[in-house]
Amino acid sequence: MDVTLCLTHACNMRCDYCYAGPKFARSMSWDTARRALDFAFAHTAEQAERTQHDPESQLGFFGGEPLLEWNLLKMATEYAVAEAGRIGIRLKRTVTTNMTLLGEEEALWLRENGFHVGLSLDGCAKMHDLVRRTSDGNPSHEICARALDFFRGSDANGEVILVVDPRTVELLAESVAWLIDGNIRRISFSPNFTVAWNPVALAKWKHAYTLIGDLYVGCYRNNRPVNINVFDGKIHARVNNGYRPCDRCGFGENEITVSTTGNFYPCERLVGDDSNAALRIGHVSDGFYSAPRNQFLANRGNVVAECSVCPVRGRCVNWCGCVNYAATGFINRVSGIVCYHERLCIEAADRVGGILFEENIPAFIDTFYLGCHR
Ligand code: SF4
Ligand code: SF4
Repeated sequence: MDVTLCLTHACNMRCDYCYAGPKFARSMSWDTARRALDFAFAHTAEQAERTQHDPESQLGFFGGEPLLEWNLLKMATEYAVAEAGRIGIRLKRTVTTNMTLLGEEEALWLRENGFHVGLSLDGCAKMHDLVRRTSDGNPSHEICARALDFFRGSDANGEVILVVDPRTVELLAESVAWLIDGNIRRISFSPNFTVAWNPVALAKWKHAYTLIGDLYVGCYRNNRPVNINVFDGKIHARVNNGYRPCDRCGFGENEITVSTTGNFYPCERLVGDDSNAALRIGHVSDGFYSAPRNQFLANRGNVVAECSVCPVRGRCVNWCGCVNYAATGFINRVSGIVCYHERLCIEAADRVGGILFEENIPAFIDTFYLGCHR
């Protein structure tokens, strides 16, 4: 079972599109962190025994800004590594950070401890500073981008995560070009589906994906591949005849997020200010709440009738519970804007994948057809 610890609600940034809820000074106690890890590892061991699979878990840190609780993060990691080793669990580690507190010491420690680091940075300063400001209202790009130096190159242990928002979408391609020029090879887009996208913004989004597709093709042609999640995922899904069960997240079944107060949620995106009892599926003191959890598990998927006959449904992420909830208020109803984006990604990925396949680009064939990646 994967477990994400929301270490604090506090954050030193005030991004316009933040979904992590109000910023207030409440952090997780060591006791809560330890009990959350004990619960997740016991569940992992039990599940592995039942299914006769090797036990695996992923430990994640989230916030607010988790690096504000650096000592707790380190303590929880050391405890988790020791416990996982004792039980025989293979443990992956991730953290998502706004980069403001990510200095050399922190970056080295995260690398030495095998972390995958999600770097929240909206690309170039022009895009980033429009929507990502510090808590006192100042631009943050200069301070955040310094940490990029530790994550350049294809072997880097981090990926840059850009929020795609109607306010900044026209700068998206410029931002991706800036990252690629800076030798950042792993890039993820996290679209903001909670706001209105007007036709002008949608057209800019489409145009941006065309330009970024051209950059992607250029990188492969130059034998300097770049990972961009919206293209990679759709190309893999095409090669594999659709998403596989392992491409889906554990959402409350094999994955929990634990809030600062010890409540369990199916995903970190559903924690918010930790006040919505309808989204809770357990607590460190009580374990799982069977009835609401079973309800969550039974409701996963997508019930929109139109999707059942859609020709691209196998390559469409219409089943992501947290995305659906953010956009429609229901974990099992995909929204129009997600549908638009899924079709856009598929179209853009098919265009770039078609070009690279036709040209028989070795790095592309290796990555997507010879199983050298993923
Ligand atoms: S850095 Fe993250 S948690 Fe902090 S305000 Fe921005 S989006 Fe929200
Ligand atoms: S592309 Fe749209 S209609 Fe088709 S499966 Fe996805 S969400 Fe449903």
